[in-house]
Amino acid sequence: MRLLEQAVTVSLASDDDLAGFKAAVRRLVAQQMAPQDVQWQVATAAHGDLFSEPAPVTQAARAPAFRLPAQAVQWLEHAALHSEPGRFELLYRLVWRLLAEPGLRDDPLDADMLHAERLSRSVRRDMHKMTAFVRFRPLAAQAGEPTEHVAWFEPDHHIVRATAPFFARRFAQMRWAILTPERSVRWDGETLDFGPGARREDAPPADAGEQLWLTYYAHIFNPARLKPDMMRKEMPRRYWKNLPEATLIQPLMHAAAQRSGQMVEEGATEPQRRRPASSIALRLDQRPADTALPGTLDALRLATSHCRDCPIGQHATQAVHGEGAAGAALMLVGEQPGDQEDLRGRPFVGPAGKLLQQAFDRLGWQRELLYLTNAVKHFKFELRGKRRLHKTPGQKEAMACSQWLEREIGLVKPQAAIALGATAARALMGYAVPVSSARGQWLQRADGLPVLVTLHPAALLRMEVGDPQAAFDAWLDDLRQAAGYAAIRTAST
Ligand code: SF4
Repeated sequence: MRLLEQAVTVSLASDDDLAGFKAAVRRLVAQQMAPQDVQWQVATAAHGDLFSEPAPVTQAARAPAFRLPAQAVQWLEHAALHSEPGRFELLYRLVWRLLAEPGLRDDPLDADMLHAERLSRSVRRDMHKMTAFVRFRPLAAQAGEPTEHVAWFEPDHHIVRATAPFFARRFAQMRWAILTPERSVRWDGETLDFGPGARREDAPPADAGEQLWLTYYAHIFNPARLKPDMMRKEMPRRYWKNLPEATLIQPLMHAAAQRSGQMVEEGATEPQRRRPASSIALRLDQRPADTALPGTLDALRLATSHCRDCPIGQHATQAVHGEGAAGAALMLVGEQPGDQEDLRGRPFVGPAGKLLQQAFDRLGWQRELLYLTNAVKHFKFELRGKRRLHKTPGQKEAMACSQWLEREIGLVKPQAAIALGATAARALMGYAVPVSSARGQWLQRADGLPVLVTLHPAALLRMEVGDPQAAFDAWLDDLRQAAGYAAIRTAST
């Protein structure tokens, strides 16, 4: 940073120099430098050596850190990676104003706040698309050398550095590289190595494994669930050129109507689930006529309240029903209500629910657009003195309760679900899912519903070793994969 007459010019090392931007903001605030007196440059765009001097370290530069609202911090971190040239001016002005105008954080119509939020949302969406649409191809390796997988991607914003840790966690055992026009990143199994941009020709061409993927994609494509508008929104055309399956999309969409008709004519097939199909049908027959087949969520709540199909229901205060609207695109399924939920009759209002809400806030999700429920509707606990301690429901209990979850799915008709923890994953999939290895992955139910597996928030609260912040961030990365569904507003919501 260098004084230039009255003004100060800050030169950042690169467009994605987030650490440099934050450090500069701290210094500028400490030095009481008004936004109108600050100019921002990215080193690669700077002319000559005018801005090449290192930033002076002054006494003020070591001033104590200041606090900003959590929401604003999230916006700043993402919006700073936007490709809009004036973003640094905007964000520093916003920091300056947030510190000077405490009421600003509650002003939903402030132009700077709205602008920053829009940039932040756009960057988050780009990061999500990168995690969803990067396709690795193997590079021929020397004998004895591990295969390297290389992908080509064209992000809209400066997100490679911020998104690379996701791939390092997801493909920790693999050697891979992601090439983009602006920056490349390589993972050798231990460290992320960032380099300059590359050309599309530097990535390897299609291989035999890709043909296998195309066959699989064509096989899992369900014409009855085809929603072209949603598909175009989730998989914008500009990404198609780098997606091998894009060549199949048009033919599959054209054939969808005909295939749907065939499926209707062929009639229903038995779902291929490992859970014995018997228990649900049996109970449906035994249920009283007024609760046999609840056709609305209200009727379902009433029916669940009277359920005593397993011992848990006798001891809990009340059944805790799902919460949200029929038509919510994303359903989050937890294990069972906890002590607070049991007393208040609402899901996710205890400590785990608070952590989930923090995640929603970080992700920019609105709880009212989601449907939150549990695999088991009553609270299972054991008494220790006056305290009711959570007890994991048994497999038989979860299976007995799955009838209610299945009916909720049938009524809400979500486009995707998130299984929070092992009990939820088992209830949704019908078989045991190893959450530690399957987390962050999408599974597909026999009825075609995609299910994202991740940890239950209570698991993060119980964590005694490791870095809780890193664990929370990794959990956010898992959840973020469903962001496209969380943002959907349907007519009924
Ligand atoms: Fe019925 Fe589920 Fe409650 Fe058991 S936990 S009594 S199956 S609602």
